[in-house]
Amino acid sequence: MRKRFISVPVKLLVLVMGALLLLTTIFSYLSLSRLNQEFTQYQSDTLRKGQAQFSVQNNVLRQKILTWLESFSDIVRLKEQANFDVLAQEFAAQFDTLQMNQNVENVWLVSASNEELYLSNAIPKFVQLSIENVLRHQQPEHTLYCEGQCVQLITIPVLNGKGDMAVVAMTVSLVDMIFYINQALDNELAVVSFSRVDKLVSTTINEEAIILADARFISSTNTQLVSELFMSNQEIVNSEMINSQGIKATANDSSYLINLIPIANTRDDFYYLALIDDATIFTDKYQQNRWQFLIFTLVVLIALVIVVHFVASPFTRRLLVLSDVLPLLAKKEFDRFRQTDLQRNGKYIDELDILANAATELSFELEQLNIEIEQKTKELESIAMYDLLTGLPNRNMLNYQLRKAFFNVSRSDGQIAVLFLDLDDFKKVNDSHGHTDGDKLLIQAANRLRSSIRRVDMACRFGGDEFVVVLGHIDNENDAVLVAEEILEAFKEPIKIQNSLFYVSTSIGIAFASEKMTKSEDLISCADIAMYEAKDDGGAKYHIYHEEMYKKVALRVMMESEVRQALAKNQFSLSLQPQLDAKTKKLYGFEALLRWQHPERGMVSPEDFIPLLENSQHMVELGYWVIRRCFELCQTFIDKGLTDVRIAINLSAGQFADPHLTPYLTDLLTEFSLEASHFELELTEQTLVKNIDSAIEMMNGLRDVGFSFAIDDFGTGYSSLAYLKKMPVDVIKIDKSFVFGMLENRADYQIIMSTIAMVKNLGLQVIAEGVETSAQLRSLTENDCDIIQGYYFSKPIPETKLMEFIDTKIVNGYWKVSAL
Ligand code: C2E
Ligand code: CA
Ligand code: CA
Repeated sequence: MRKRFISVPVKLLVLVMGALLLLTTIFSYLSLSRLNQEFTQYQSDTLRKGQAQFSVQNNVLRQKILTWLESFSDIVRLKEQANFDVLAQEFAAQFDTLQMNQNVENVWLVSASNEELYLSNAIPKFVQLSIENVLRHQQPEHTLYCEGQCVQLITIPVLNGKGDMAVVAMTVSLVDMIFYINQALDNELAVVSFSRVDKLVSTTINEEAIILADARFISSTNTQLVSELFMSNQEIVNSEMINSQGIKATANDSSYLINLIPIANTRDDFYYLALIDDATIFTDKYQQNRWQFLIFTLVVLIALVIVVHFVASPFTRRLLVLSDVLPLLAKKEFDRFRQTDLQRNGKYIDELDILANAATELSFELEQLNIEIEQKTKELESIAMYDLLTGLPNRNMLNYQLRKAFFNVSRSDGQIAVLFLDLDDFKKVNDSHGHTDGDKLLIQAANRLRSSIRRVDMACRFGGDEFVVVLGHIDNENDAVLVAEEILEAFKEPIKIQNSLFYVSTSIGIAFASEKMTKSEDLISCADIAMYEAKDDGGAKYHIYHEEMYKKVALRVMMESEVRQALAKNQFSLSLQPQLDAKTKKLYGFEALLRWQHPERGMVSPEDFIPLLENSQHMVELGYWVIRRCFELCQTFIDKGLTDVRIAINLSAGQFADPHLTPYLTDLLTEFSLEASHFELELTEQTLVKNIDSAIEMMNGLRDVGFSFAIDDFGTGYSSLAYLKKMPVDVIKIDKSFVFGMLENRADYQIIMSTIAMVKNLGLQVIAEGVETSAQLRSLTENDCDIIQGYYFSKPIPETKLMEFIDTKIVNGYWKVSAL
């Protein structure tokens, strides 16, 4: 849900306003209650003053009447008279003046025997009761009496000269009293009466409740105002309210407080003296107070809004600026971020300055981090794409570039070629000089490679001592050949590492992308196949891939799987070809030659499968099978009485490099209880030169046990006679290719003759193989060749026919001459 935005100043304002409202409410409540208190005080004060005035004026009135009566009695010398006649006469005479001066309304003089001595008027009931009371108690009495009108009734006992008592009763109007109270209090007064409110009107009010509007005015200082005040007020008030609060009323836009002082009650009516105070001053004050407060609040509010605005706006503005520019950090626009002015030029700093500082610092740190990440990414990329040792692009880059080249070439007329390079005999350098020198050599080889190619071409390190050159744009196949030749030329110069010179050549396989070959991996493996061909061909040359190569490889792969099955199915056997002493025709021994009886292809020649399997693990396995079989055959020979016959076993290069060979052979010696002198191990020159040092070491070990060694196919390889001196060799086998043409070809003849001479010179034996004719035999025998092997005597004899052969052809260890 999307949240609504309320800015901080607005929130602040709402908060402040809330607080202000609360304060205002509290203040107004407090000041109102103070005002109320003041008013209540004022009301009770006025009430008290009114009551005091009322009782004072009451007393004054009474006192005046009493004083007047005393002096009047004296004047009429009542104390000297025996009756009250004079008094009665004088009352009658003075009644008018009395009425005028003293506001006396009526005067009654009644004797103790209830004789009516003077009556200004008939005696009303209440006066009669008062007179009887006074006569009974012989004490003066005064009461306020209201019945339609209100009067002060003063009843005083008087005595004549004889001591007889009479009672004077006077009713005095309240006009004077009201006048005096009015004078004293300076407020309007009225005597009002109310009827008792019928209980039906309200059940909640007590009996002393009145309705203001029902007021009847008996006398008043300001009749108009008073009547207006009461008439407009329909309120029902009870006595308690009257006493505690007074009554508030309004008239002529003024406020008044009415205090009611009860003066008399009758059965039907209440009589009150109403004190009317102008309370306008209070309400005005109240109003004024309220206005003042309101204005004050408003002013404070406006001030606050302004203050909040001025204080918070820059704050929020800066916050907004910051929130605007912060995303720049994510976009890595650090400079733009820092160009934004986040700082103020104030004297003091605040939280936002700290935040801005932190953000700036963060930008620097992020920038640094970003630089580091970019650097690391580059490093990672180069690790992923470049070879650390030589600095050449690696296999990943090769695949990438090759794919790119494939893509580009499909849009142009150019052609792609791949050169697969493998340094010849690099392993020897590594083994003899250690890996550090090996690495240095690789670096220099890489440099040579780099300088032999065009800028547009790319040389990669494929792994180990293998390199691949991609020629992304060549016009014809010859261009690739030129590059290969250039490279071969560059490698002719020896590489110098410290003080040693290394002659490192390289074998190159060239493959061209064709329509059939659309995958970069295929192109590389084709070049690889061609490279192997070049290597097999002696190395230091290039070979161009063609489909035959692939077929060969495919055949090899097929062979490899078939050999394993053939071993399990016992399809292998040996044929043995006898070797005879040239002069004596004594049986020297047999060469064991492998045969494969293939269920479909018939007899498969070792020349067809052994070269294919050369160096493979299958060949090694097969080789061990051959060795064991030779041991078994040797056992049979011995059993047959041929105790000094030796068997020549062909060892493949892979097998000879296998560390298990020596223990395997010695174990077999123990197992068959045979002498090692029964066996001659044949090694080709190629096998020997592959790793001359370890070959010599291995030969020495086996020779110590008693095995002898023959160099097979002598003359076809590079091995020089210098090697022969170093090696523990017993026999040299002159290759059959020389023997075949020895009598026709002068060079072959010369090679054979000089080889025989030299070998003999070294104290070794010579075997000539491939001897097919008696002429060859004669020539070789005459020239001191030791041993003869060839069809002239016998083709290789299958194992099964071996015993039969020995029986028919060998007599006492010698060739049966008659059989020829
Ligand atoms: P190789 O070691 O030079 O063996 C001699 C080859 O010359 C044999 O061929 C043999 O039959 C043939 N040969 C002997 N005398 C004559 C002759 O007068 N005229 C002609 N035309 N050929 C003659 P094979 O048996 O076909 O063997 C071929 C090669 O296969 C051998 O050459 C050897 O390198 C390899 N090989 C045979 N058996 C084994 C084996 O058990 N282990 C290994 N590693 N290689 C073997
Ligand atoms: Ca051989
Ligand atoms: Ca041979």
